[in-house]
Amino acid sequence: MPLFSPRRYQPPFYPYSREKESLSMGLFTAFEAVTKGILFDCRMCGNCILQETALVCPMTCPKGMRNGLCGGATPEACEVDPTRPCTWYVIYDKAEKKGQLDKLLEINAPMDGDRVGRETWLEVIRVWRKRGGPKLLDYFRDRQKFDEEREGLFREIRQPDWWQGDAEYHAPQYEEPISQFEANLRTGAFTTVTEIAPPLTASTEIIGKKVGWLKGYVAAANFTDNASASPRMSSIASSKICMGHGIEPIMQIQARDRNRTVIESDVMGAAGLGIRNILCITGDHQRFGPGPLSKPDQFDMDAVQMLWMLRRMRDEDIYLDGRTIKIPPRFFLGAAASPFGAPPKYEAIRAEKKINAGAQFIQTQPIFDYDRFTDWLEALDKRNLLNKVYLLPGLIPLKSARATHFMDEEVPGVVIPPELIKRMDEAGDKEGQQQEGVTIALELIEKLKNTPGINGLHVMAVHWEAIVPRLIEEAGLPRPLEQPLPETEPASSQV
Ligand code: SF4
Repeated sequence: MPLFSPRRYQPPFYPYSREKESLSMGLFTAFEAVTKGILFDCRMCGNCILQETALVCPMTCPKGMRNGLCGGATPEACEVDPTRPCTWYVIYDKAEKKGQLDKLLEINAPMDGDRVGRETWLEVIRVWRKRGGPKLLDYFRDRQKFDEEREGLFREIRQPDWWQGDAEYHAPQYEEPISQFEANLRTGAFTTVTEIAPPLTASTEIIGKKVGWLKGYVAAANFTDNASASPRMSSIASSKICMGHGIEPIMQIQARDRNRTVIESDVMGAAGLGIRNILCITGDHQRFGPGPLSKPDQFDMDAVQMLWMLRRMRDEDIYLDGRTIKIPPRFFLGAAASPFGAPPKYEAIRAEKKINAGAQFIQTQPIFDYDRFTDWLEALDKRNLLNKVYLLPGLIPLKSARATHFMDEEVPGVVIPPELIKRMDEAGDKEGQQQEGVTIALELIEKLKNTPGINGLHVMAVHWEAIVPRLIEEAGLPRPLEQPLPETEPASSQV
């Protein structure tokens, strides 16, 4: 058992090639690996961020999350492997005890494959010599100077030139709204969007049918991206088909199953197809999908890193490898949040990272416990985030008592108060339960639409999309506005 970190989920990484390595370097690397294995269960990622994470190795996390916990984390256990604690709970806990929670705001880079499996101690010495500090004598003479130089040294190592992550807010670098959805939010009107599950078949008819029910009621429709690691029609194809039927899509893109190359390629393709709203999520672990399961290490990036990369593609016109994008993509970027996952003070740090990285709107897990939701909202307010992002809490109309129990017991990050479960249990037959679900949804909408800091609603009536127009009408929610948008650049001549 390692001294400082939870045990690692997967074995160490190895370099692409050891061709140029001398015997002495090989021995040194092995010595470093053994020492760091005893201390941290190190996976030799070669991109060490222990300085930031209270000396707990984030690479012990099954998803390899380098920027905070995932939506399914609990204080008791990791959602992927319940036999081990959540690495990030351990990190937050230790960082809080050391008074270093704000250190967790820096946006850490994804791994650099060229450094994987190689030693890092000599790299520290190389950079230290190049910088000429910190000087050991300063530790006694001028502690502040020593600490600043030490921080600069490790920052140079952990933030490579191709990433340059920081802990600052980066406002979008454009003036006019990019999408109808953004234009609606900018008017200040309460804006409702919804979710349509991509079809399980090759037929696109069902998308057209559902869009027909929802057109004129919602500003945009989300398309999930193989949620629960279960394959469906792709989010990008569903989004394009939805556009053709007259509703603007919000294309979800998740990091599982995609490396950085495919993420960049897919979003560029989406931009070329005219898809403007993109919601970045880390994604459910493949363990939650139907078998046979894919191999365990499927995450090259997390949601924070995706947002950072996509914002830079849009605002700085660059690919991650530094190539210039002559006609950059135009994205209105969003993120997901889980108000009931971890304590609000931890979730607020994660939300701040996403907003700093580039999230302009946030959609949350479904809200059933309004009081606990406002605790999360207060935590965001304390971090001065509410004026930097549009917030759309999630709402699921409960369709049956059985579905209510399933969500409460099985879906990570969903909390349903016992009194609501009781109301659904006592609602009688199928029609009675559906009516009670609608009544509960309307009560929640009434509270949410009058809550300061809330800009709209994300209705997730999956496989019950036909109920959405009724909810909007009975709750008296405004209809979306059609705003003229500025012309987009012709998709031409890019090389
Ligand atoms: S719960 Fe999520 S963040 Fe925590 S260790 Fe497991 S996969 Fe990683």
